[in-house]
Amino acid sequence: MKQFEMDDSSRAHDLNGMTHYVALPTRGEHYSKDHPLFGQETIEIKMLTTKEEDILTNVSYIENEIVLDKFLESIIVNRDIKYNIIHDADQMAILLASRIEAYGEDYPIVLGCQKCNEEYECEINLTDMLKNEIKGQLETTTHGTSILELPKSQKTIEFRNLLPHEASSIEKSIERMKKNGINTNFVNEFYQRVIQSIDGGSDGEVIAEFVKHMPIRDSRVFKKAYENAITKIDTSFQSVCTACGHKNKGGLPIQASFFFPEF
Ligand SMILES: [Zn+2]
Repeated sequence: MKQFEMDDSSRAHDLNGMTHYVALPTRGEHYSKDHPLFGQETIEIKMLTTKEEDILTNVSYIENEIVLDKFLESIIVNRDIKYNIIHDADQMAILLASRIEAYGEDYPIVLGCQKCNEEYECEINLTDMLKNEIKGQLETTTHGTSILELPKSQKTIEFRNLLPHEASSIEKSIERMKKNGINTNFVNEFYQRVIQSIDGGSDGEVIAEFVKHMPIRDSRVFKKAYENAITKIDTSFQSVCTACGHKNKGGLPIQASFFFPEF
């Protein structure tokens, strides 16, 4: 695994104190010991400048759907912390906190009603949303993993949540393995990467064998536990249509006014 350079004082100096700290929903849990966010409750973020506005309006970034990646890359003070090694939950907190810091907490949006199709305006208070956390539901270890007892096999497994770049690399390595005549599938690969030990034993062959024959019930419980292991921000959002009174539910919509409230 890659070693990270912790000292980034020269860049911090260049920013001349124009930074702020964002509380991480993970509190630095769910990162391995060699990760720069291991045990860190906050992350230092650059205050937004015209440079970030240029990134947010860059047509090629927008077309290639990398605009938020580039934005995060630009505002994270520690250059060793690439956006794709930050858990989604923490990325969301950084986006919300940056937006609040630069433009305030009120986020006006236009929604289309799911019942009558009329458009209506409403406002999201981003500070309230940021505070609204869904706590991780499992016991965590001091080295960033979670513990789960499986209902059917009664095995106790220790697993880790993959970082965004690791999750996206699974598909690629499956393709590579298939080209080399190795028979595998996504679920198999996924489980083998996330399970660190079974009943305390970390033998890779034992884990591989267990994964091959994992009971359906265990697999279902595991998938759900995996999704809920990390504390995250509840970005679900409810609003009432001004035309028909229907209650519309959905996730946080990122519209132009998220970063350009004057539009
Ligand atoms: Zn309506």
